[in-house]
Amino acid sequence: MDSADRITWQRSETYSPLQLRSGTHTPCPSEFPPARKRVSQNPDPYRPTTLKDREILRVTYQGDDRCQLRCPGCFTGERLTATPQEAALDGGRKSVPHDEFVGHLDAFSGLQDFFLIGAEPTMDPGGSAAKLRHADERGLPRMSITNGAVSVRRFEDTFGEALDSGLYKINISIDSMDPAVHNQLRGRSFALARTLEIVRHCLRRKAPLKIQFTVWPSNYSTIVSSVEELYAMGVRGFAFHAGSVEGVADPDRHGLAHVDPLAWRLLVQQLADWGKERPDLEHFNLPYLVFTERELRTEVIGDGEETDAYLEHVHQMEAGRESAKPVHVCPALAVPQVYVFANDGGSGHGQVSLCNIHPGAYADYQPDTREWRVIQDPERNQMQQMLDSPHLCPATPGAYGSVSDRFPTEAGDLFAACRYVGSNQMPDPSRFPEDLYPQAVDFYALVAQGVKTQPFSRILRVCAHEESFAAKTRTLAVHLVAEAD
Ligand code: SF4
Repeated sequence: MDSADRITWQRSETYSPLQLRSGTHTPCPSEFPPARKRVSQNPDPYRPTTLKDREILRVTYQGDDRCQLRCPGCFTGERLTATPQEAALDGGRKSVPHDEFVGHLDAFSGLQDFFLIGAEPTMDPGGSAAKLRHADERGLPRMSITNGAVSVRRFEDTFGEALDSGLYKINISIDSMDPAVHNQLRGRSFALARTLEIVRHCLRRKAPLKIQFTVWPSNYSTIVSSVEELYAMGVRGFAFHAGSVEGVADPDRHGLAHVDPLAWRLLVQQLADWGKERPDLEHFNLPYLVFTERELRTEVIGDGEETDAYLEHVHQMEAGRESAKPVHVCPALAVPQVYVFANDGGSGHGQVSLCNIHPGAYADYQPDTREWRVIQDPERNQMQQMLDSPHLCPATPGAYGSVSDRFPTEAGDLFAACRYVGSNQMPDPSRFPEDLYPQAVDFYALVAQGVKTQPFSRILRVCAHEESFAAKTRTLAVHLVAEAD
C-alpha cells in the first residue's frame, strides 16, 4: 500500500479509523485492535478548549448552503431551502466569506486531508475553486463531491484547476441508473442525464472518479445493476451509504427510511463478492453498519467478556431500565475527523460536528479570536452526548428510531455499531445465506412500487408481523393488489 494513501496520526500510535485515500484494503486481525485499544475510553469532552490544541486528521467542509437539486433525503435538511433573506433573519448566511474559510482552516492543527462538500460546490465555481486552491497551497491532499448535474463548463470552472493540480478524488453522487428512480431521489427530472454527461467527461479526462451511492428502500433493488452498468462504462471507484433520515422533515412523504439492517448486510455481501472479482477497482468502500454477535466479540468490541456485558446492557435497555454501555466503540471520541458547517453555530460563523450522522455540535467558531472553541455547556457538547449515550453508535436512535442497538432478523440478531468502524476494515465479516439477497431485492422492488402511492410507514405496518423477506413480499403484494382494486 502506498503510504500516501494512509491518513494516520502523526503524534501517537493510535489506530486511525479513516479510510485510505484510494484502493481497497482488508486488514488482517492485528491491524484492527479491540475497541479498548482502538477508541478513547475516557476522553475529556471539554479539553483541550480549542481545536488548535489537538491533532485532527481530516476536515469535511460545507461552506455554501445552496444546491440546484432538491434531494428529499439530503442530510442537510431544510437548510438549503432557506433564502439568503431567511438565513439572515436567523443571524445566519448562505455562504462563508473566503477570509473566514481561511480562518476556519487555520484554527485546526495537524490536518492531513481536506474534503470539500459544498453543499454543492458547482453552485459557486469560483468560491469552490478558491477553497480547493487554498487547501493545496497549505499542502493538504484534497477531495470533493458533486451531484454532477451541471454543464461540463461549470464543472470545469469548479474543479478543473484542482483536477489538474492533484485532486485525489472527485466523488459524484448517483443513486440509480434508472432515471425515474434517480430523479425522484434527486428531486429534479434532469438530474441523471446531466450527471452522466459529467461522468463521461470525467472518464475522458481520466479524473480520479468515484461514484457514491446512497441506498434507500426505493433504489435498493437497482444498486447492483447500476454499479455493473457504471463499471461497464469504465468507472473503477464506488462507495455506498445507507440513507438515514436525521435531516429530513417528512421522510414518509418521500418514501424515505433506513433500509432493513439485514437487507443492508446482504447488499454489502453481494457487492463485496462482486468487487473481489474485479481487481481493477481503484476504490470500493463498503460500510457494514450492523454487526453479528460474532463480529462484536471478535472485532467491533473484540473481547468476549465485554461483549457479554454489552449484551446484558442491551437486554436492560429493551426492558426499559437505565443502563450504561460497558465500552465505547464510537471513533468520533478521538476526534480523528471533523465536519465544519461553516454557516451554522450560535453566532452563525461556523460549527464543528464530530460525525455527520450524529446531530450534535462540538465547537463554535469565534471570529474575534479566530479559533474553534469547544462547547463547554454539557447540554450542548456533542462528545458529552456521545459518552452519555447508551448506544454503541450514539447516532442510532436518530438513524433507526430504535430503542436498542439490536435488530432481530431472519438470519439472527444484528447490532448497530458505527458507519465507519467497519468500512472495509473487518478482517473476517460474517456470511449470510446466499438465497436471502434475491429475496430482499424482490421485497424492495415491491416497496418501490408501493411508496409511489402510500407512505412507507403504512407499508411497514402491513408487513410488520412477517419475519422473512419472502413472507413480507407475499403480504405486501396482496395488500397492493387490494389497494389497487
Ligand atoms: S456513526 Fe455513530 S459510532 Fe460512528 S462516528 Fe458517528 S456517532 Fe460515532
